Amino acid sequence: MAHRSRLFTIPALAAALLATAASAQDDEARRGFVEANLLGIFYHELGHALIDLEEVPIFGQEEDAADVFSILLVDSLFDEETAQAIAIDAAYGFLGEVYLMEDEGEAVAWWDVHGPDEQRFYNTVCLFYGANPDEREAFAEALGLPEERAGYCPDEFDQAFDAWGDVLDGLTERFEAGQGEPIVLMPGAFEDAPLTARLLEVEVAALNGELRLSLPLSVWVESCGEPNAYYDPETAGITMCTEFEAHLHSLYDLVTE
Ligand SMILES: [Zn+2]
Repeated sequence: MAHRSRLFTIPALAAALLATAASAQDDEARRGFVEANLLGIFYHELGHALIDLEEVPIFGQEEDAADVFSILLVDSLFDEETAQAIAIDAAYGFLGEVYLMEDEGEAVAWWDVHGPDEQRFYNTVCLFYGANPDEREAFAEALGLPEERAGYCPDEFDQAFDAWGDVLDGLTERFEAGQGEPIVLMPGAFEDAPLTARLLEVEVAALNGELRLSLPLSVWVESCGEPNAYYDPETAGITMCTEFEAHLHSLYDLVTE
């Protein structure tokens, strides 16, 4: 419990900001949270897809590499204000998972391939801060990034940028040369996850306007029986489970209560 109260206290300022926004326009704040997390998760799965299809060498945990890729895309694809809003909501998504586990009395799964959600929270805040420390000091402070870590974050970001930069350049060069394969959003259970469907329609079209892969990548929206998302190398497909959207709505309730 001490752990939870510590996490609660650290981002109190951001929680207050979130609560103010929430009371003014709850629907909009809620939708922003759900969309930001869907986007973060989709980019994470896209990271897995690129590691497989583009044969990106990974030294360390692939899950960490996919998280890093996701933050990198948020930083590079959106204007400053939007990117910060997405990063705050995505970080809070990890915090929501922590609260959910505590409410359900589950212990941290140290054996899992993903890092603990507490750490994914701080990694998200650190990398995003490190990408533009001049403009994101208030962001780092509001989200409780300790100074002991903050000093390393610009270097952590540069390292991530170097690792993924060449991969992304390759994808855009292929697009410009009129070569390669697009991302294909397959027909699916869109009515069961309307925000997921809408976001993917916009996002897949935007990505296809900038990059091409070496092999076709399909994206599915379907029921999986659990709130999840995954990349399957057998089918070269990303599945965004319809259950994730409802799950994110409950996480929003947890982080704003
Ligand atoms: Zn993953």
